[in-house]
Amino acid sequence: MVTGDSSHVKQINRALILGEIIEHGSISRTDLAKVTGLNKSTLSVQAADLLAEELIIETHKEHNNPGRKPIFLSLNETAGYALGIDLDGKKMTFVLTNLQGVPVSSQMIEFETHNYHEIFRLLVEQIRHYKKRCELTPHGLIGVAIGVHGIVDNSELICYLPYHQWHNRDLKQDLKDATGLNIYVENNANLNAYAEIVFMHHQSEHLFSLSFNSGIGLGMIVHGEVLKGYNGFAGEIGHMIIIPDGKVCSCGNSGCWELYASEASLSSAVAHMKNKEKVRFQEIEHWIQVADPVVVTELEKYMNYIATGLNNIINLFNPEILILNNRLLAIYPNALPLLLSKLVSSISQPCELLLSELGEKACVMGACALVIKNFLGVSKLSLSNNRS
Ligand SMILES: [Zn+2]
Repeated sequence: MVTGDSSHVKQINRALILGEIIEHGSISRTDLAKVTGLNKSTLSVQAADLLAEELIIETHKEHNNPGRKPIFLSLNETAGYALGIDLDGKKMTFVLTNLQGVPVSSQMIEFETHNYHEIFRLLVEQIRHYKKRCELTPHGLIGVAIGVHGIVDNSELICYLPYHQWHNRDLKQDLKDATGLNIYVENNANLNAYAEIVFMHHQSEHLFSLSFNSGIGLGMIVHGEVLKGYNGFAGEIGHMIIIPDGKVCSCGNSGCWELYASEASLSSAVAHMKNKEKVRFQEIEHWIQVADPVVVTELEKYMNYIATGLNNIINLFNPEILILNNRLLAIYPNALPLLLSKLVSSISQPCELLLSELGEKACVMGACALVIKNFLGVSKLSLSNNRS
C-alpha cells in the first residue's frame, strides 16, 4: 500500500487497482480494498475516475442471498484497442485486440520490397485504417507496437535489420509523426518472451523464449522484466559460436549457432542432401512422417546442435522455463524428451523445457500486450489466451 496524495502516488495506486481488476476479471470494492491494501476513500475516488474515463464498468452479479446484488468492477475491454504488428522479411502480420488482449481481427500482407520508404508507406496506410476503425470507442486505437527481426536499441531505434539491410532507422519517430499515435518498436524475440509470460505462464518470473526462424533470437524475462543489456542488444544468441572455425556467418564470425540450429539451416542442409535448390516446410514434414533416412540423419545432427546451444544457455542463465518456438520441433516425434536426454550436465539445474503454444503468433500478441501494459500503466499484465 502506498499512502499520500501526490500525483505519483495516485498513479501507482491506479496501476495497482487496474492490475487487480484485470487479474480477477471482476471484483467487488470490498475485495479490491483487501487485495490492494488501499483505504475505502482512496479506492472510491480512484474507481470514480476510472468509471468516468470509461476504463472500468460496474456489473451486478446474481447471488443466492436476499437483498442488494453486490456490485463488481471489471475492465471495460472495448474502451480501446491495441494494434500489434510483426514486421517480417516478406510479410507483415497485424492483430487488433481489445484491452483484455482478445484478438478482434488479424490480417497478413505480403510484400517484395526491401525499401524502407515503401514499407513505411504500407505500415502508415494500415495503421491509419485501424485508427479510423477504432475512432468511435472511448479511447480509440491506444497504440501500436511493431516487432522487428533485428537489433533494436534501448531508445527503440532499429540499429540493424539484416533481411532488409536497414541501418539506424527511427521507425518509431517516423510512424509517430505520420499517425500521431503511441508507437513502440521492439525486437521480435523479446516480444515472443513477453507474450509467453502475459498469455501463458503467468506465475513465472524467469522465462526464456527461443525463436528459430532464419536466425535464432532469445527473449529473456528476468525478475518479471525483459532483460535487454546495456545497449538493448542482449539475446543475439544465434551468434554464439559453437563450432570453432565453422561455417562463415554474415556477422563476421565463423561457427555461429544459427548456421547449424535455425529452421533455415536445417532446410538448407536437407535441400543440399536432396540435391534441391530449396525445400518447403511441408516436404520436410512429409519426410519426417515417412522416416526418410536422409532427413532423419540431418535431424539427428540438428537436434545435437540445438542441445549444444541449450546447454550453454541453461548453464549461463539458469532459467525457470525455457520455451522453444520452432515449427520443426513441433512436428519431430518426441523432440522434447530427446532434447532433455541431451541436457544432462550435473552443473546446471534442470529447467522446464516447453514448445511454444503461441507459435508464430507470439510476436504479434506480445506486441499487443506491450501496448496494453503501457496504456494502462500496470507493472505486470496477465491475460487469458483467447486467440481467434
Ligand atoms: Zn554470426
